[in-house]
Amino acid sequence: MVIGAGVIGSSIALQLTRNGHQVTVIDRNPAAGLGSTSSSSAVVRFNYSTFDAVMLAWESYFLWKEWKSLIDGSGSFGKNPANESQPHYAQLEDIGCAMLDVPVLSNEKTLGLFDKANIPYEIWDSKTLKVRMPGIDAGKYWPNKPVKSDEFWHEASEELGAIYTPAGGYINDPLLAAQNLATAASNEGAIFRYRKAVTKIVKDSTSGRVTGVEIFDFDTQDKSVLTSGAEFIAADVIVNVTGPWSTLINKMAGAGSDFTVELKPLRTEVHQISTPKNILPGPILGDLDLGTYARPAPGGITLIGGTEPECDPMDWVEPGDIDEVNMTRTVQVFESQTYRFARRFADAQIPSTPAGVVGVYDVSSDWTPIYDKTDVPGFYVAIGTSGNQFKNAPAVGFIMAHLIQMVEDGADHDNQPITYKCLKTEHSIDLGTFSRKRTGNTTSGTVMG
Ligand SMILES: Cc1cc2nc3c(=O)[nH]c(=O)nc-3n(C[C@H](O)[C@H](O)[C@H](O)COP(=O)(O)OP(=O)(O)OC[C@H]3O[C@@H](n4cnc5c(N)ncnc54)[C@H](O)[C@@H]3O)c2cc1C
Repeated sequence: MVIGAGVIGSSIALQLTRNGHQVTVIDRNPAAGLGSTSSSSAVVRFNYSTFDAVMLAWESYFLWKEWKSLIDGSGSFGKNPANESQPHYAQLEDIGCAMLDVPVLSNEKTLGLFDKANIPYEIWDSKTLKVRMPGIDAGKYWPNKPVKSDEFWHEASEELGAIYTPAGGYINDPLLAAQNLATAASNEGAIFRYRKAVTKIVKDSTSGRVTGVEIFDFDTQDKSVLTSGAEFIAADVIVNVTGPWSTLINKMAGAGSDFTVELKPLRTEVHQISTPKNILPGPILGDLDLGTYARPAPGGITLIGGTEPECDPMDWVEPGDIDEVNMTRTVQVFESQTYRFARRFADAQIPSTPAGVVGVYDVSSDWTPIYDKTDVPGFYVAIGTSGNQFKNAPAVGFIMAHLIQMVEDGADHDNQPITYKCLKTEHSIDLGTFSRKRTGNTTSGTVMG
């Protein structure tokens, strides 16, 4: 059983189904992908702080490139009878990625990881940056400052370069990506139960192993659990993939006491500007120097998100309050994000009213996800995705299906971490990096991971 039909839950459901398991997916929403997946900026990049995290993104890049075959179970994924074609497929816009220099991301470390993973890159000095990204102001503005402060507008005395990867970009329709995965899983035999909320994880009183879940109907308008539709569904393996709601499900299972990594939901916003059209045709821009990232979007608009500048307040949410989060964009965050972008691209025109989306990140203390078993037998987690795991959804399906199989077959993952041999890049990923009990990951401490 998979709880949560977001892009990651649906990917796990597809790979478990392809491995021959009978899979049921439960989601409170009326369709797949309507949780945090639907507000994702869906940026595809490879700058992470550990080799395994870089590899997960690099492997996923090749899976996105073969998305239709992956979804249909055809081509190199053709071990199953090919699925029927779906009317539409999400698509990788492979326009590259430029990450501006900033002290919190060591270029030496990034390039070492890229070399080890064989990810092609170019090192741009400020002159090259200005040629390759016309209209950019290459000024160094670090450290981040509030946009309402005088210091924010001080002139820069130095200029920045960037690390550019020709690979990377964004997925044009994140919701469709989740629905492609869910439709394929469903076509191959997985059962999706929508508008159903999991309210209890049931365990065997002697062994402590999960035996199934209790569900009730869910009112998607009021976001409330109804008293109708009570049902017990048996399951010998349960995977919690509920994004920002994950802590609530862990509590139901009695899991979490041995986690070294803390999880906390964070409210976030992504804004968009439409003038001038196509101001950032590509590559996508990572700009921690000013505290923002930006990418083009269909129709010539530009999406602008934040990289959690320390000078701006963080909007942390209690796990029980996620359904009460204000889903209306605020002028404060709109100004913070768009002014930062306008400092970088002076031609950007800021609209008079905010346009964009609100979402909630499921943030872990080191901004790295937890893909792991737990101390509750049969209960697994793919959570803490920290605003940076959409891109990894294709490979996460494979690694979670592998991990579950190995643990159920008796592997001692906590003491001898399981590795996953990548299908496309043929590198090995040490799944211990994503352990709930990890201690050693040094990361940027931001949404970059
Ligand atoms: C604004 C924003 C921008 C982002 N940008 C990027 C980006 O550029 N690149 C990137 O790689 N990542 C990005 N991310 C992160 C990425 O989108 C998420 O990591 C990913 O979508 C998480 O998918 P998921 O399947 O784990 O969770 P979700 O999509 O959140 O799905 C969880 C599901 O669980 C269901 N659920 C919850 N509780 C219950 C219950 N009790 N019973 C039944 N169902 C339940 C919900 O209805 C929901 O559908 C961004 C995220 C946000 C919010």
